[in-house]
Amino acid sequence: MKSGPELPGNCFFCERLAGPGPRREPLIYEDSLVHVTHWSDWQGPSYQGAALIQTKRHTDGGLPTLTLAEGGRIGRLVVEVSRALRDVVGAAWTYTYCFTEGYRHVHQFVVARYPNTPAKYKRLKVTEWQGAPHGTPAQIRKLAQRLGAALESSGPAGPTS
Ligand SMILES: [Zn+2]
Repeated sequence: MKSGPELPGNCFFCERLAGPGPRREPLIYEDSLVHVTHWSDWQGPSYQGAALIQTKRHTDGGLPTLTLAEGGRIGRLVVEVSRALRDVVGAAWTYTYCFTEGYRHVHQFVVARYPNTPAKYKRLKVTEWQGAPHGTPAQIRKLAQRLGAALESSGPAGPTS
């Protein structure tokens, strides 16, 4: 397992990052504190432009138990991933949300909304819109690489303005 913080045990999030294997989540970025992956629907085509920033560490108490370093990193990545989604998939807007209940890692979604998204699919239903670009596992892996390259080109600290 690549740079996992703890043994997977029965943790879905550790397992989804343990590779190799076809169901390993496509990695966009990782550092000492977090992974950023592209969300995948393994039952069929996946919505393109749905990133998941998750702590490497188990944070069983949710958001209050993040370190300030983890919180700062997640916040910065929300901005950088949003810029990458704008630039790579043409997102007109990005949404971010974090529920985390029932899982051992704080994980925050950053999701693209496409310019022509019908009003009834805005906000939490955005990934239900079948008219949005969807990709096969191979296409999602390629997209994750492009998003990762876009993050890298903005530098580790990203643009400051
Ligand atoms: Zn875990």
